[in-house]
Amino acid sequence: MFAAIYFTLCAFSFFPSYNLVVEEWTEPPMEFPSTVIPGGVIVVPVAKNLPPPRINSATFSKSPTGTHWFGVNGLSSQRSVLIYGETATQSKPSSSWHPHISLYRHRISIANAERSRTSVLRIPASTWAAMDDKFAERKQEERKIMRDVLDQRAGVLSKDCFRRPLASRVVSRFGAPRSLPNGHTYSHNGVDLRAAEGTPVTAMGSGQVSYAHAMLVPGNIVVINHGDGLFSRYLHLSKIHVKAGEPIKIGQQLGLSGATGRVEAPHLHWEVIWKGNLADPVHFLQAWEQLCGQS
Ligand SMILES: [Zn+2]
Repeated sequence: MFAAIYFTLCAFSFFPSYNLVVEEWTEPPMEFPSTVIPGGVIVVPVAKNLPPPRINSATFSKSPTGTHWFGVNGLSSQRSVLIYGETATQSKPSSSWHPHISLYRHRISIANAERSRTSVLRIPASTWAAMDDKFAERKQEERKIMRDVLDQRAGVLSKDCFRRPLASRVVSRFGAPRSLPNGHTYSHNGVDLRAAEGTPVTAMGSGQVSYAHAMLVPGNIVVINHGDGLFSRYLHLSKIHVKAGEPIKIGQQLGLSGATGRVEAPHLHWEVIWKGNLADPVHFLQAWEQLCGQS
């Protein structure tokens, strides 16, 4: 069993060319929090001479302060999430120089998010008709485009102290259960900020525009790459003011809020995604205050 686990994990080993011996799972060499919320950020101090931990197949990123590693739990209905990593020490003197790998793993409980009742989206009939099953193929193509955009890992992580894309209150929280007119249920993968049609929407931090175009369900959408696998997305815009590839500064206007795509009414849907894991944007900004090094 260890062999199988080892061969799966060795893809991220820092010592790929040595013969490695897996002994057993050990205790983690750093202290992790005992619980995390859905979409929560897990922060641990950087441990010298060790590779960073991993979560959901993603390697923790180093904070701009250089002092911490962080990873995002993602939107999950699981009760816990597994963190794992490796330590390497030189083996017994009797053998030739074979580093010997210890793998550690640690399970963090996922705190039950506040339970709220499933809200049934009251999508106008004309909007719903524009994105029903007739458009399944186009929706699939657009999902593939977005997967490719979010798979990018290029760029140095922004050092900005991120801020909300507009000063407004949350009208629908991260992870809230939703139901569509066809009965399909899902969890809200961002937060909705109250915004009348035409409110300026600004970048939460510096980066580069990865995507800026109309899509069926998200409507007019802008995606910003903040580096090292961190993205923010801004949906349902009435106007887009930036182009793909353009460098962006924190606070720069990306467009105007609106009601394009699958919506009941105008608002800004804002998402934060780290290496494919959805973060709770509000929680992410709180956690980031300690990590950006400028506060
Ligand atoms: Zn939303």
